[in-house]
Amino acid sequence: MTIALIDGNNFYAACEQSIDPSLVDQPLVVLSNNDGCIISRNAEAKAFGIPMGAPFFKVRTKLKQYGVKIRSSNYALYGDMSERFMNLIKNYCEELEIYSIDEAFVNIKRPMNCNLHPWAKELRTHIYQNLSLPIAIGIGATKTQAKLANYLAKKVADTAGIFDLEISKHQEDWLESIAVENVWGIGHKMAQWCRLRGINNALQLRDAPSHELKAKLGITGIRLQNELKGVRCIPFAKYNKAKKETCVSRSFNKPITTMDELRQAISSYAVRASEKLRKQNQVAGIITIFTRTSLHKATFYSKSASKRLKPHSNDTSILLNASLALTPEIFKQNLPLIKAGVIMQDLQEDKYLQLHLFETYNSQSTIQRKVLMQTIDNLNQRYGSNTVRWTAYGTSPTWSMRRKYLSPSATTRLTDIPIVIS
Ligand SMILES: [Mg+2]
Repeated sequence: MTIALIDGNNFYAACEQSIDPSLVDQPLVVLSNNDGCIISRNAEAKAFGIPMGAPFFKVRTKLKQYGVKIRSSNYALYGDMSERFMNLIKNYCEELEIYSIDEAFVNIKRPMNCNLHPWAKELRTHIYQNLSLPIAIGIGATKTQAKLANYLAKKVADTAGIFDLEISKHQEDWLESIAVENVWGIGHKMAQWCRLRGINNALQLRDAPSHELKAKLGITGIRLQNELKGVRCIPFAKYNKAKKETCVSRSFNKPITTMDELRQAISSYAVRASEKLRKQNQVAGIITIFTRTSLHKATFYSKSASKRLKPHSNDTSILLNASLALTPEIFKQNLPLIKAGVIMQDLQEDKYLQLHLFETYNSQSTIQRKVLMQTIDNLNQRYGSNTVRWTAYGTSPTWSMRRKYLSPSATTRLTDIPIVIS
């Protein structure tokens, strides 16, 4: 078996372009929550030298001057595109490990002639035809090699987005061309340590004295070296690990000071968090809510409060009531709160629901509640989030995120489906 790392190029910007053809070939940037800073740029925007992570207000004039298109982050869109992306890859491999929103490791058998290029080419075309997302495919004997191959697929001209490091005749030359900072698992500090010892690239790291790496990094160092040599040490996670915690938190577009506003925000996050739990087939045993003022203010305030849920639950009204009851504990008068959130902890799979000995268990009403939640989720999925909503979080919140340049929910809301006029 060989490993390939499949990775979307400039994923958020590519998703935006895929639902809005007017953005194709135009420089485009995507902003973080609250339109704070730049988190994704397409190739045309990169060519203008707009840096990743730049605060929006600092580059606003420059963007306007160059005619760069701007979008607020639309996570409903990226999440949905990611799901479609992973589902398409599944048909092209033996095993799939979702690594991030736009990255997956796959296990794949080499054909008789060892050449995986036709496979990779077909997969790229398939993804592009279905989702208009450009991807890079890196192939290697190990996850680390696949990651480096993916880096080369993006950086080296003439690769057409595909790089097979495992069978390359010039593997050592390629490893030598990769700076040590760009090796998967080498952080900023570790890279400095390597450079001080004259280890400047991936090849030198592979051949560095093992005992020195072991002394510095422990077993991780030895694993990393073996992986570079082509010996598999990092296991392939066939099953997605169940989440241990689920958090929904946001910064407000302007500070809030009233209990009512905080209640509304907390309730909307609790509703979202319970939807997430149901999607993950999990129930929570502890709910924690928190809020804070700006980190840069002298009068910094931060407070959280928790409640144990008996029994575990993912029922919106139970989680909503629990979080609303906790809100007075974290609120403080006359303080400009800029962020709040809800964290669900002690998660369990919902089929193993632990029942409490002294709790009366009414199966009829439990089933009815489950069906109700499912119906609400289905309606919101079909017609867009907030089609069915809880009144606790108000109809026109003043605190919601700043998303001035938000694209429509083209893939998750029926009314937002793009219309093609021929
Ligand atoms: Mg990517």
